[in-house]
Amino acid sequence: MMSVENNDQHYDVLVVGAGFAGLYLLHRLRAQGMRVKVFEAGDDVGGTWYWNRYPGARCDVESLEYSFSFSEELQQEWKWSERYAGQPEILRYLQHVADRFDLRRDVLFNTRVARARFSPARNEWTVNTEAGEQYRARYCVMATGNLSKASVPDIPGIESFKGRWFHTSAWPKEPVDFTGLRVGVVGTGSTGIQLVPRVAEQARHLYVFQRTANYCIPLRNGPQDAGIERDVKGRYAAVRKQARESPSGVAGFNVPTQSVLEVRPEEREAAFERRWNWGGIGLTRAFNDVLFNEESNRIASEYVKRKMREVVKDPKVADALTPTYPIGTKRLCADTGYFQAFNRDNVTLVDIRRSPIRAMGPHSVETGEATYEVDALIFATGFDAMTGTLLAIDIGVENGPTLRSLWADGPHAYLGLMVAGLPNLFMVTGPGSPSVLSNVVVSIEQHVEWITNCLAHMQERGLDHIEALADAQQTWGDHVNEVAGRSLLAKASSWYTGANIPGKPRGFIPYMGGVGAFRAHCDEVARNGYQGFALSTARQAQGSPA
Ligand code: NAP
Repeated sequence: MMSVENNDQHYDVLVVGAGFAGLYLLHRLRAQGMRVKVFEAGDDVGGTWYWNRYPGARCDVESLEYSFSFSEELQQEWKWSERYAGQPEILRYLQHVADRFDLRRDVLFNTRVARARFSPARNEWTVNTEAGEQYRARYCVMATGNLSKASVPDIPGIESFKGRWFHTSAWPKEPVDFTGLRVGVVGTGSTGIQLVPRVAEQARHLYVFQRTANYCIPLRNGPQDAGIERDVKGRYAAVRKQARESPSGVAGFNVPTQSVLEVRPEEREAAFERRWNWGGIGLTRAFNDVLFNEESNRIASEYVKRKMREVVKDPKVADALTPTYPIGTKRLCADTGYFQAFNRDNVTLVDIRRSPIRAMGPHSVETGEATYEVDALIFATGFDAMTGTLLAIDIGVENGPTLRSLWADGPHAYLGLMVAGLPNLFMVTGPGSPSVLSNVVVSIEQHVEWITNCLAHMQERGLDHIEALADAQQTWGDHVNEVAGRSLLAKASSWYTGANIPGKPRGFIPYMGGVGAFRAHCDEVARNGYQGFALSTARQAQGSPA
């Protein structure tokens, strides 16, 4: 046991993580009069936006929508400088939120949680930090984010590498200067695609090690348009409502009503063209069946491939950069000058699908075909998404199940909020909720409000024990699978299905039914007396007479 009793501290709620979710939880719970402690591994707030400081890091949801809606003053006073904010600006925003609502005093920084145990006898969670401190509370909330446990490939010889190597999500605080260096980037997902053009501007030579070519739509970022800002701020409540009720949590996307197949080719081309020129990841929403019908998807895929190829001068490089899977079945990427970077003399695309990386030497990366001399290597290789961070913490019930045992064959959760068998433990945007398929700030606000309303409901009634019921969890899981199964996404090899992590159980993890429908369902569950959850006093839960 890592802890000692004399630094044992008692709270109502312990929260893990001080990103968007943890900060909002703290704000709401405090307003409800609860004693809260937040644990944060970083030395500041920000979560994803604290860690991912790599060159080019930027959000691909528009700033006016990728922001908190809970405070009218906050959303009116904050001024975004760009249509799509970069990492430094989003981090500044979250720092401002922390200061404005006086949140920092309840956050324990530089503190990583190692273990959490529920005691049925005491009806409370005990949380142990890696530093050996111990905290107790009635409830525990995991606000740990969906994309925070980095996935670093296990390459033979990596320990002998003499240059610096990085994972994009653990980027140093001080800027890294690649001037004059030969640099390798492994990975061409959303992160690699943002990073490559920026590093190409500095490096003497850049090798881009690509396993899968991805679809990218130009982001078309720029300064925030003052007219649009005035318009949105003038009717923010309506914009936010539209986002909450929409499929993806974004008000700016119209909900498509037509199939690709029911319009004439010129109309279809015009619709794609509008989305292409508007920029960003809304292109697959030009029609209602791009993610569901193979022929519709093929047409959309061909459109984007054609546009991408127009940029790349060398036809062989263009071939290698052309995706071979159905568009949208892996996360669509948005770029700023990604394909243009391959027209530079100092950038080489290396196909590691054909010939994988076999080893690293002190100054090199070796594939089956060649040895590439590099001074620095950047892994933009993604995350053990949605479950990795939770499973990294040893979570469980004293003499009972652990999260690792309950999820041995893949994640099971009720509404992404709770796991049957782990009482009084909540997750924010957990498996089986729209989370990563949505504007995640909208999903975070929805989950945080649901959880805090639930705790207020319990407090008012003198209840202190809540569990998700196994049959409700099963029914929800079946629904999540059934909805995903109708789409092309469930068939793809992506981090949505766990396919990017060797040995991870395969299955579609987030809920594809849409943010609006999900919210309506969660609200109904609450209205019906928290259907599918057992709410009680601890005594009742233990079977003692009340
Ligand atoms: P990712 O989408 O999982 O991409 C990882 C890349 O690394 C893929 O190209 C993958 O190839 C490659 N890779 C992984 N393991 C490898 C290995 N062992 N050897 C060679 N290549 C390997 O990760 P990400 O780019 O960090 O993005 C994750 C998610 O974060 C995104 O999908 C998005 O949701 C979010 N994100 C958003 C933004 C934004 O808002 N603009 C920016 C960055 C990230 P395979 O495809 O073949 O596995």
